[in-house]
Amino acid sequence: MDGDIDAVRDARRLAGIGMTSQRTRERMVDRLREQGITDERVLSAMAAVPRHVFVEEVLASRAYEDTALPIGLGQTISQPYVVAKMIQALRSGGRDLGKVLEVGTGCGYQAAVLAHVAPEVYSIERIQALLDRARSNLLGQKLANLRLTYGDGNLGIPKAAPFDSIIVAAAAPEVPAALLQQLVVGGRMILPLKTPQAGRGTQQLVLIERGPRGYNETTMDAVRFVPLETGRQ
Ligand code: SAH
Repeated sequence: MDGDIDAVRDARRLAGIGMTSQRTRERMVDRLREQGITDERVLSAMAAVPRHVFVEEVLASRAYEDTALPIGLGQTISQPYVVAKMIQALRSGGRDLGKVLEVGTGCGYQAAVLAHVAPEVYSIERIQALLDRARSNLLGQKLANLRLTYGDGNLGIPKAAPFDSIIVAAAAPEVPAALLQQLVVGGRMILPLKTPQAGRGTQQLVLIERGPRGYNETTMDAVRFVPLETGRQ
């Protein structure tokens, strides 16, 4: 029975490819270029991942707008510009992403983009129902280098640590200590933080580099993310 429902959903998604096609995606990529995304590897990953597959069918026609969209359970799919900007910052200076940890899989969109750019990606989500949805969204994507984990991302993934790059898709008041520990020396982490400078409901993107003697922070754009929660659901 479930198989039948899946088959119908797949057929609808394929039918949707007409209006949510490669050309629409390329227009999104053109806009990203205009907004200052210059990393060709990131741009080609954004051109390759079919964002419409990761949103509800009723929103598929809006999938290539540069906005966050609801994905259920009070969560959102991140804005394409912010996804591109964060991955570009992790790679800037010609750096390879190496082994990546993403906290907050959501619908799996950013995880798919990362898996096009990095050799190995781990993504953790605390809401089981969303993780199941991400798995089904990612089914057709053939991303053998992407692993999804159910758990509280505040704790990182000790079994897979350390990571060369960490990207957090939910906003915290401070950097989770376990994530700092699970970053290699020479590694980079990017996350939205509720800093005193950020206005109400907004946060500041912060890039953290781990050096041999400590951590270096650079503050970037103002952003708006859902909160980083604790525990599993
Ligand atoms: N990466 C997603 C964005 C998802 S929104 C994309 O590509 O669009 C942020 C996600 O973080 C939500 O799904 C939310 O459930 C999840 N989240 C919040 N706190 C978390 C935590 N402590 N551990 C893991 N996931 C968390």
